Amino acid sequence: MCEAQNAMGVRCDVLLNLSQSHCEMHSGHRIGVPSQPDKILLRLQIPEREANDLIQNAGIPYVPRDFEAQDEKNKAEAERLGVDFKKFRSEGGSGTPVFGRSGLKTGISIRPMLDELGESGFTTVNYHIEPSQKPSMFYIVIVFSSDSDEEAIGLHERLGDYAYSGWRYAHPWVHAPNESGVVTHALNLLFQMEDEACKIGLHYNSGLWGISDIPR
Ligand SMILES: [Zn+2]
Repeated sequence: MCEAQNAMGVRCDVLLNLSQSHCEMHSGHRIGVPSQPDKILLRLQIPEREANDLIQNAGIPYVPRDFEAQDEKNKAEAERLGVDFKKFRSEGGSGTPVFGRSGLKTGISIRPMLDELGESGFTTVNYHIEPSQKPSMFYIVIVFSSDSDEEAIGLHERLGDYAYSGWRYAHPWVHAPNESGVVTHALNLLFQMEDEACKIGLHYNSGLWGISDIPR
């Protein structure tokens, strides 16, 4: 994705080859480094049975969600940023998808990203289970923060097993700074699979995100 962003911090959504950094419209301009994330939300989709097991047997906290309130908040945020709420998803949103509307679909390992987050000073500050809008599906949510004032809690072993597994679909989203100036990136992972079957690795790449082939 093009690295340019507008005055509000909204990233350009033009998709590029991996060798390019800026789209035709933005190349040749003097453009700084895009906003770096303060927080990264890793969201791993799991079925109800596994969610129940994690809540009841591993003590992972469950946090209910108010989808309507969230929708209102997202709409207001899209309006504040001047972005088209329904541009990428029928359910709406204010972020920009790094790899386009359909994301990555070839079997993804996030091991490279997890290593890079550690090297970049990110720590786990929260984890919980929350409902998905899809019936009978839930998300494991793991929150990484680069703010050293936030307490690092370490990742629960059971959740580490999920994070270090493979995932069929990956959708990283970057968001412009919110009204408090906090930048959040979100990574949604769908359909767990064997780590050994993954063809590509996802990289944090200092908030620019990227992929590499996994040699087999
Ligand atoms: Zn651009």
